Formats: sequence, C-alpha cells, structure tokens
Amino acid sequence: MGVRIALAGNPNCGKTTLFNVLTGSNQRVGNWPGVTVEKKEGRLKNSQDAVIVDLPGIYSLSPYTLEEVVARNYLIGERPDVILNIVDGTNLERNLYLTTQLIEIGIPVVIAINMMDIVRKNGDKIDIRQLSADIGCDIFEISALKGDGIWEAAEAAVKAAEGKKSAHSYYFSGCVEHAIAHIEEAAVHDLPEEQQRWYAIKIFERDSKVLEELDLPEEKLRHIEKDIVAAEGELDDDAESIITNERYVYITGITKKSYKRKNNGLTVTDKIDRIVTNRWLALPIFAAVMFLVYFLSIGSVGSFTVTFMNDALFGSFAETYPGTFMEGWYSIPELLDLALLNEDGSLRVADWLYSLIQDGIVGGVGAVLGFVPQMFVLFLLLSLLEDCGYMARVAFIMDKIFRKFGLSGKSFIPMLIATGCGVPGIMASRTIEQDRDRKMTVITTGFMPCGAKMPIVSLIAGALFGGSALVATSAYFIGVAAVIVTGIILKKTKPFAGDPAPFVMELPAYHAPVAGNIFRATWERGWSFIKRAGTVIFAASVIIWVLNSLSFEGGFHYITEDFGGASILAMIGGAISWLFIPLGFGTWQAAVATILGLMAKEEVVGVFGALSTLGGGELTLSTMELYGIEFFGGNALAGFSFMMFNLLCAPCFSAMGAIKREMNNGKWTAFAIGYMCVFAYIASFCVYQIGSLFDGVFYWYEPITSAIAFLIMGVVAYLMFRKNPYSENELTVKTSK
Ligand code: GDP
Ligand code: MG
Repeated sequence: MGVRIALAGNPNCGKTTLFNVLTGSNQRVGNWPGVTVEKKEGRLKNSQDAVIVDLPGIYSLSPYTLEEVVARNYLIGERPDVILNIVDGTNLERNLYLTTQLIEIGIPVVIAINMMDIVRKNGDKIDIRQLSADIGCDIFEISALKGDGIWEAAEAAVKAAEGKKSAHSYYFSGCVEHAIAHIEEAAVHDLPEEQQRWYAIKIFERDSKVLEELDLPEEKLRHIEKDIVAAEGELDDDAESIITNERYVYITGITKKSYKRKNNGLTVTDKIDRIVTNRWLALPIFAAVMFLVYFLSIGSVGSFTVTFMNDALFGSFAETYPGTFMEGWYSIPELLDLALLNEDGSLRVADWLYSLIQDGIVGGVGAVLGFVPQMFVLFLLLSLLEDCGYMARVAFIMDKIFRKFGLSGKSFIPMLIATGCGVPGIMASRTIEQDRDRKMTVITTGFMPCGAKMPIVSLIAGALFGGSALVATSAYFIGVAAVIVTGIILKKTKPFAGDPAPFVMELPAYHAPVAGNIFRATWERGWSFIKRAGTVIFAASVIIWVLNSLSFEGGFHYITEDFGGASILAMIGGAISWLFIPLGFGTWQAAVATILGLMAKEEVVGVFGALSTLGGGELTLSTMELYGIEFFGGNALAGFSFMMFNLLCAPCFSAMGAIKREMNNGKWTAFAIGYMCVFAYIASFCVYQIGSLFDGVFYWYEPITSAIAFLIMGVVAYLMFRKNPYSENELTVKTSK
C-alpha cells in the first residue's frame, strides 16, 4: 500500500476544500464544525499510490467530542504515514495548539498554513522559515480556495512520509518533564520509541481512554500518580491544565518571533460582523435575509416543468376508448390491447390507463416536480449564504439565544442542515457531546422546514395567500419558534436539565462564494428531491390513484370519476378526518394528504395534485387558488393551520428512521415522534381557534373552543416560565478519580 496522508486541523480551517482539490472529489464543504464527522478517503491526483484521508476538524486530541474520538482513533490507532496539518493562518495561535499535540504522536508532520490569501490581504506576515525551525517540520503557505501552493505541500507530505523523518518536540517545564520521563520509564517502555512521549503525556493528563487502553497494574498507577501529584503541587494546578497552559506559553513564544500582524484596525470582515452580529440588529437582519430568500424562491412559481411533462408525454394521445379494467377478467390479448396505434400514428389507450397516467401520475408526480425550480432557487440561495460565511454568523447569533434556555449554538447547526433535508440534520446532532442536549436536538430538528416541506408552504402560500413570501418566511420562523419553545419547556424537566456545553467556533472571513461549492451543495440537495419524485412519490401516486379509483359502495368496482367521496381512499380519509376538524381542515383529502406526508412530505402536494378535479395541469397561481377553494373552502386560516400541522407533526419515514438511529432507543424515539405530533396539534389548534375569533364569522361554539385554546396556551406559558426546578443540578463538579 502506498503513502497514507492524513489531513488534520481545526474545524473550518479548509481541510475539505483542500481534500477536494487534491483528490478531485466532491465532498461537502461546510462553514461550520461537524460537517465532516466521518473520515473520508481519496486518491491524491497526479500520484500513483498516495491516499489522502480527510479527518473531522478538532481543536485538540482529548477524547471528549465525537470528532476528537474519530480523528484520534485514526491517528493513534491506524497511524497514517504522514500528517498534513492544516493551519488557519488568520488564527495562527489557536490552530498551533493542535499542532503541538500532533508533533508528539511520532508521525512525520508537514504543516500547511491555509487562508494565506486572507492573511496577505490583511497585510500580516508569517516568517515560515523561523516557524519551521522552531517547530521542527516543513511549513508551506497555501490557499486551498485559490489553489496556491497546494501541490508543493502535498509533494512535501509524500516525501516526509517516505523519509520517515520524525518531528522533534518541544519541552515542558522541568517538573513536568521529570514526571513524564518517569512515566515513560515505568509505563510505556515497551511501546515503539516514537510513540512513547505521546502516551506518557496522556498518562500525565490522566486521559481516561489511554489509561483504559494500556490497562496498567494498580501498583504502577500508584507510583505514577505520585509523580503527577508532585508536579501538580509544584505548579499549583491540575495536570491537564498544566499541559494546556504550557502549550500556550510555548505557542505565544514562537509566534511572537515569526508572526507580524499589521495593525491596520478592522478588516472588512470585522466591519461586516459589527453590523451583522450586533446585539439589536442581528435578528432583524437574519429575518430580512430569510424573507428575501423565500421571496426570491417561492415568488418564482415555476410552472414550466409540469406543462412540459404534459406536452411531452401526452401530446400524442389522440383519444381513448372504453377500457376493460375491472369490467371483467383480463386475458393476455386484452392486456396487450391497452394501447392501440391509430392510423395517423397517434395513440389510443384504455381510458383507465389514461386516467392513471393523467390524473394519478402526472397529477401526483407532476405537482411535486412543479416545485423543483423553486426548490433549486431556494437551495441555491441557502448554499450562497453558507458558502460566503453568513450562516456561520447565524449559528453564532443563535448560540446567544439558545444559550438563554440551555442549548448551545451547536444545536443550531443540525437545524441549519435540516433546511435542506432533516435526515442529515438529525445525523449532524451526533457531534453534540451531552446526551441530553443531543436528544433534545434530535427531537427538535424535525421542526425545521426541510426542502420537502417547502412545496406544502409554497402551495398554501399560492392557494390562499396570493403567493406571499411572508407565509414562507413565517414557516421558517415557526420552525425556529417550535425549537425554542420546546427547548425552554424540556430544559425544565429532569432528563434535560443542565447547562449547555461551551460552543467554540471560528468565524471564517467572508469570501466571495465559490461556484463549485455552491453548485455541489445545491445539486446535492436538489437531486435527492428529484430522485424521490421518481421513486417514493411515483409509487405513492399510483397507490393513491388505485385507492381512489376503486370503491366498495354498491359492490367492489372501478369508478371513473370520484371526487364525491365514494372511493376507498375517501373512506380511509373520512375515517380519520374528524381528528382534524378542530384544526379547521376536516376534509378527507386533507386527512389523506397529511397521512401520506409521512411517506415523504412532498407527497402532501402530490395528493392534492392527484385528487384535484383539475387533473394534472399547469401549476400557476390561479390554478393553485382553485386548489385552495377545492380543499380548504378558500379559508386561509384553515390552510395556514394545515400548513403548520404538516410542518411540525411527525416527519417523514426516513427522518423517523434517522431519529431512531440517533436515539438508539425505542422509548425515546416514540417520545420524539409523539411529542412532535402533540406539539403540532396544539399549535395548529390554538392558531386556528384563536384566529377564527377574528374572521368575522361567528359560530355558537366559538367561545368554548377558543376558551380551550387560551387555556392550553396558558398551560404552555406556565411550563415555559415557571421556575426551573432543576437549575442547581449541575453544581456538583465531576472529578476524574
Ligand atoms: P474544514 O472544516 O476544515 O473541512 O473546512 P472547509 O474546507 O469546509 O472550509 C471552511 C470554509 O473556509 C469554507 O467556506 C471555505 O470556502 C473556506 N476556505 C477554505 N480554504 C480557504 C482559503 O484558502 N482561503 C479562503 N479565503 N477561504 C478558504
Ligand atoms: Mg470538512
């Protein structure tokens, strides 16, 4: 096997960007930590047999976060031939902290200082010759984004691996070195020489994973502990902090010599951040940005896809003839008789087949596909915001808000990802260390309006609100509000109480979006949407058509036109629609749409497409208005309530599967899904019932139902604002021994 190069560095230092260029592959570049949780492998371009591994971003080699564990296990366990340490040049001191640890592992290290384009623009200077002499390994200045210097760095890495030149390490203060020497002697003597120092330092830090791995005899441990305690006594600090401090002292020393910061005041990024992350302006700006995003995407109702499908597929259907479906049993010749060619070359098809294709498939799949152009505009805009660096600021802003009720900004990242699709969003919650916060994030991530929910929003906005972008923006913030309300309520219950973990995140400098990244991220999100239209949605459409074309009434038979409610589907929908009467949308179609939304949220729109008397047609604002009248009696409030319920209730099956995987526990999965359904029901109920007080129509029961709604809101408010009975829980400090 050839040379294995591991890319290691802090989150957001540009590892994945570099990995993509070096290997010519297409990994997702993210502007926040946690995007690369698994390691990814690729072959170095222009080289016979060098393999590059993209590790998740880490700040240190302590075993606390999932990223650290993945990266550390790889570096220590599988020992790559060389580490290419990516260092963010705009944040040299912080990044070198990891470097001090990497050079102890005993694997050759080559350092690539990235983001040099920004460093140079800021007018800062790094004396790499000095730095290289101090740290003791080759250093290159690169810009992964611009492609500067990257091949030299990669080549040097390959060379360093073959040369097996181990980097020399620096020294801690006397008493620490003394203890480490003793530990090396006593505990790790049998390990290969180049690995001894790393293990000794970890033992000194009382690193639980290493102690477990080495499984030292009791007596040795006691002996070692004496050395550690001695050093701790002399420096009046605990062992782990001693090491951390000494690393920083060392880094400060070497960067003072080699790093010249030009003091030219604020950079452009600082100036933008002053406004964008301003205490008072941050949220209004974020709201305005999201409004603009939805205005541009939802406002551009794309009708061309459906029209195109219609013409392409059915332009040649000249006429139909009365088919044989369900009128008797098929014979093979009859089956072959489904479509006949007319003399003029046009097709004649059985009328049931025509209906299946036209009403069922074009109606269902077409309705979903009709939203694809919007979806791409939406995904494109979200990718732009991500790539230029704005979304990283949003996580930072949200951290401040989330912290108030006990979640960290780390929980917002899965939610941001979930605006594309809930499944990777839920999976991204893995990076959250505390079990309770991770569970909470898994429960709440499904509230965010994912791509598949956007057609619902878009349809309701078009059908009942004249296509207003405010409806779509409200959908986004309803999701955020649901997360926050849930967070506040659950944080005051026993399983979730406790302070959030600190959230560290580099805010990358703003940069012009890179076409490749944007295209990749947009396509990745959009393509899965199209794929589902061809699979899940297609299958669901056929099933719906079948169920809607068969009836038990007056004997089992095929019905050609059923919009009156005699079909099996209408029966099923009718059997549960009463559940939704208090929410304002008690029609069987809405019930069917809601249930089938569990297969895939787009299918909600697909159902309307397939069930509409309009058949599969062009999706314009005026046809959508007809949908609104057909399914909601033109009642905008009912439509809004329907949208809210479908946004917040149990997510689709794939997302439920993801919840189950992440929870890894049946009870918690059931709780998550049950919680979402109850929350959605209550929210829609309150909005509809209280809203209908203002609709100018009065029914005798309205005082009762709205009184119930107010009562429920009171209970929710109590749960939110009561004193936290568990707030003191976290004061007990965990000790390591
Ligand atoms: P990772 O977390 O280390 O994998 O970092 P990514 O590769 O995902 O990059 C994080 C952000 O930094 C992205 O927005 C990149 O476009 C940006 N970035 C990466 N390399 C450079 C660079 O050399 N210069 C500039 N200006 N930005 C970069
Ligand atoms: Mg990455």
